[in-house]
Amino acid sequence: MDIAELGNSIVNGDRRALARAITLVESGRADHRAQATALLDQLAGTGRQALRIGLSGTPGVGKSTFIEAFGMMLVAQGLRVAVLAVDPSSARSGGSILGDKTRMDRLAREKAAYIRPSPSQTHLGGVARRTREAVALCEAAGFNVVLIETVGVGQSETVVAQMSDVFVLLLAPAGGDELQGVKRGIMEMADLILVNKADGDLKPAATRTCADYAGALRLLRRRPQDPPDFPKAMMVSALAEEGLTRTWDEITGLTDWRRAQGHWEARRAEQARHWFEEEVRAALLARLNAPDARAAMEALGREVAQGAKAPAAAAQEMLLRLRGG
Ligand code: GDP
Repeated sequence: MDIAELGNSIVNGDRRALARAITLVESGRADHRAQATALLDQLAGTGRQALRIGLSGTPGVGKSTFIEAFGMMLVAQGLRVAVLAVDPSSARSGGSILGDKTRMDRLAREKAAYIRPSPSQTHLGGVARRTREAVALCEAAGFNVVLIETVGVGQSETVVAQMSDVFVLLLAPAGGDELQGVKRGIMEMADLILVNKADGDLKPAATRTCADYAGALRLLRRRPQDPPDFPKAMMVSALAEEGLTRTWDEITGLTDWRRAQGHWEARRAEQARHWFEEEVRAALLARLNAPDARAAMEALGREVAQGAKAPAAAAQEMLLRLRGG
């Protein structure tokens, strides 16, 4: 495969080239990895940036309905929108529950939109890398907004927040006045909480839920880099397409503020550093898991167990071996 040519096609907006490149970054093959790395390095020079919006919510809160309606609104404004997913459960459930084109068929038919379902990979680290690289590919392809969807399980929100400029939490109206078991850590990552389904019979419950979350957000530590009224909670209806323009205004208002203060660049720089460190960590672990390294670990472990070597000395020996590989 001619990587330079693939890169040029992506920059020129060739969707098939983009799809091929994402398949390349998803591949586990060593030669594909080398090509993907070269491609991403080439494309880093384009300097194109999209607004990266992370969106999390438990199944059923209305993520796909929201993304479709919100995406259509952005497309109508002349923006190009890509949708990616981080779905650590897709391998377990045997199919993708996120970023599925059939769940967003209007948006999927738009020329200015690109939807990529989550690959079936169990390992969150693998999905994280693939998504982060797919975001970079979409940026190079000239998309203005990249929506990164995730489902509210385990670590996936943290992973998505670490690759987003703005992190949005989507909730459904609660029956009672309980905060829907949303962990404090997730609340702390959210820039915007959207209480969806604020329509029809659900409107009063949505109003209560929104007030509860607005109250809870006020108790969190204020972030010095953000406007005083952030993070904030508001109501939307993805189905009735209400509150979508305001959502966009809030997101752009927040990002304009951060840009003016220099916090946008600082956040991106910090994220880039974080992902660099993750890459190094992942590469070291991969080395440690290679068959010859495993055999060496096993042999040294036996010697330590038999008292022939001290643990620290054996560890040094192991590290020296890894340095060569
Ligand atoms: P996801 O699993 O988070 O992607 O949720 P879906 O978008 O598939 O929506 C789950 C259900 O909630 C569907 O039956 C939707 O029609 C419904 N739903 C989504 N948004 C709204 C909304 O704004 N109002 C109401 N009343 N129902 C909604």
